[in-house]
Amino acid sequence: MNKTYSYDDVLLVPQYSDVRSRSEIDISTDLGAGVELQLPIVASPMDTISESAMGAAMAKAGATAIIHRYNNIEDQVKHINQVSQPAVVGGAIGVSGNYIERAHALVDAGATFLCIDVAHGHHIMMKEALWELRLIFGDDYHIMAGNVATLEGINDLADWGADSVRCNIGGGSICSTRIQTGHGLPGLQTIIECAKTDRDVKIIADGGIKNSGDMVKALAAGADAVMVGSLLAGTTETPGEIHMNVEGKRWKTYRGMASKEAQIDWKGRYSSFEGVVSRVPHRGPAAAILEDLERGIRSGFSYTGARDLRALHNKAKFVTQTASGLSESRAHIATRDW
Ligand code: IMP
Repeated sequence: MNKTYSYDDVLLVPQYSDVRSRSEIDISTDLGAGVELQLPIVASPMDTISESAMGAAMAKAGATAIIHRYNNIEDQVKHINQVSQPAVVGGAIGVSGNYIERAHALVDAGATFLCIDVAHGHHIMMKEALWELRLIFGDDYHIMAGNVATLEGINDLADWGADSVRCNIGGGSICSTRIQTGHGLPGLQTIIECAKTDRDVKIIADGGIKNSGDMVKALAAGADAVMVGSLLAGTTETPGEIHMNVEGKRWKTYRGMASKEAQIDWKGRYSSFEGVVSRVPHRGPAAAILEDLERGIRSGFSYTGARDLRALHNKAKFVTQTASGLSESRAHIATRDW
């Protein structure tokens, strides 16, 4: 069996840099077919993350959000319309039921791209959906698809017509797919595998990204952008109420879209449940979090001496770290024996 790596198993080796200021670094990404981001972050299509307020906040930061599909078509269209920035916003669709009608409505409403959003994207229904959507919308409209965990997966989705592919199965913070089904591949390994593709396709590292360091590792391993849920969970722009606990702390709900609760809310019943529901602290506006993430990403490029994403892809050197390396990597003064 092959050894596989997750984000915490590796570090990037610091290298000589001629970058004098982090503002010289270009962290933009071109995902093709009209989807260009100044900040390579995509907010997940989840009903506790991405509606119009998140779409607007992400667009303002130079990033993007994908408006989730766990609603009726009118509601989803309303959210696309409300992202009034002249900027990039995506709309999620499935692979069955009224997905073609939904796709038409989203494109008519001005969605910059569609995202075919299913848990196991390396699937015959994905193939049929991509073929159908390509016939309808032609070759110039950006279609993101996923999720996959293998080189075969990304290659097939690219051959079926995807411009970009969400890579990672089972790594999300609210995900229980690997426990429920025994399937998946560690997040960083997925990117390493998918980056071997020789197809003209962009890689979205999706799920399990905990901080800007993980973002830099994902980008260095070959991703073109990262997709995050938990890093934005609890912000003011996420859908849902702010609650208060007995100690007066404010919190919001963040949940997996395959959790029992989410499935019951959007389809009235549940099948295999592969996600959990969680409470997260209310964390204020997304903009402040995005600014910190951007600073961390810029600094990460600088440590490799990379002025842009292409240079990061080419120059990055990974090493593995041991468990004691990981504990040394974290701030550890609190655990010191004085
Ligand atoms: P996070 O950034 O680690 O919180 O992961 C977010 C990602 O988890 C999303 O972009 C999806 O790919 C994935 N995801 C969302 N809901 C579920 C679920 O219920 N089960 C498994 N994965 C999920």
